Amino acid sequence: MVLHPALVEAAAAVRRDLGPLGHDAALEQAIATRSWWLDEWEAGAELVLCLLAQDVQEAVHATDPTWPLCSETSCPERFGHALFVEPDLGPDPFWTCHRTGLPVAPVGSLRG
Ligand SMILES: [Zn+2]
Repeated sequence: MVLHPALVEAAAAVRRDLGPLGHDAALEQAIATRSWWLDEWEAGAELVLCLLAQDVQEAVHATDPTWPLCSETSCPERFGHALFVEPDLGPDPFWTCHRTGLPVAPVGSLRG
């Protein structure tokens, strides 16, 4: 399977955010799904990071409903809930704390 360059980049970014948690099966499944999707819709390349991150998060939530943990310093529930991707569909997605409405880190940069 030859992956679109945007998908290779997106996969690397999500893998960085997963870090030692791995979740390789969830990531591989999401990559396969989005590879098919990009073949059908080349113009979707700029959206693939946003979508891949949400696909992987949904899969990870089956076993770990708080990934990725909120680390926003002003959040009253810091380390108590998951961050979500904003916007739902767009380029340059951010992990965002929905309790405070604040962006925490760009997807791919959660770990510094
Ligand atoms: Zn929060």
